[in-house]
Amino acid sequence: MSITTSDMQAIITAISEALSAEKATLNALDAELGDGDHGTTICAGFDQAVKDIADADSPAQVLYLTAKTLMNRMGGSSGALFGTLFLRASMTVKGAETLSNEQFVAMWQAGLEGVKKRGKAEVGDKTMVDALSPAVSALAQAVYDGKTTLEALKSAMQSAHDGAQATIPMQAKYGRARYLGERAIGHVDAGAQSIALLFNALFTYWKEQENGKT
Ligand code: ADP
Ligand code: MG
Repeated sequence: MSITTSDMQAIITAISEALSAEKATLNALDAELGDGDHGTTICAGFDQAVKDIADADSPAQVLYLTAKTLMNRMGGSSGALFGTLFLRASMTVKGAETLSNEQFVAMWQAGLEGVKKRGKAEVGDKTMVDALSPAVSALAQAVYDGKTTLEALKSAMQSAHDGAQATIPMQAKYGRARYLGERAIGHVDAGAQSIALLFNALFTYWKEQENGKT
């Protein structure tokens, strides 16, 4: 496969739509563990990003403009973290007109590393990293195993979902939820759920693309 600029624009739009459909749920999750604004802020960020990427002329530029908008629009810790995810992804694929599966994997790996470096959270700390890390690993494994893009995205989507669910019994070490101690147990982390929705949108977009081709 190769991911073009217009694929990347459509992917950001698909992510924005998937998050918007779950805005209230994301706010409710964040209300349990934080201040209840995660759905509102991430949706505002992606809504604006969809507009800002309209004239982008490379996949890297789509990612860069998304990063910049998320950082400006979302604010707070999560704006910096989601911004970093896309900024590092963008830097990894700079100069490429289209992306191979391997480049697509590399950009998510770099994004994950950026988020971990910036936020310091590891798997098990009840953050977006709990969904992002297994999703990126599954994506990489599937591509190295020679799976199709759709199979790789399906595996990433399932791993992101499982990773988000795995945050339920965790206590939080980072973010506002860290103040809750044991009271954080029993709820999905909102940022992890956003990552699960993001990979869900990626898979659904690609499936629709493949269906359109046949
Ligand atoms: P805020 O906490 O500023 O209100 P949001 O509500 O938008 O930001 O996002 C909260 C989410 O950010 C959490 O659910 C968690 O997944 C993520 N998060 C917070 N701190 C960190 C961190 N240090 N590393 C990774 N993710 C984090
Ligand atoms: Mg919040």
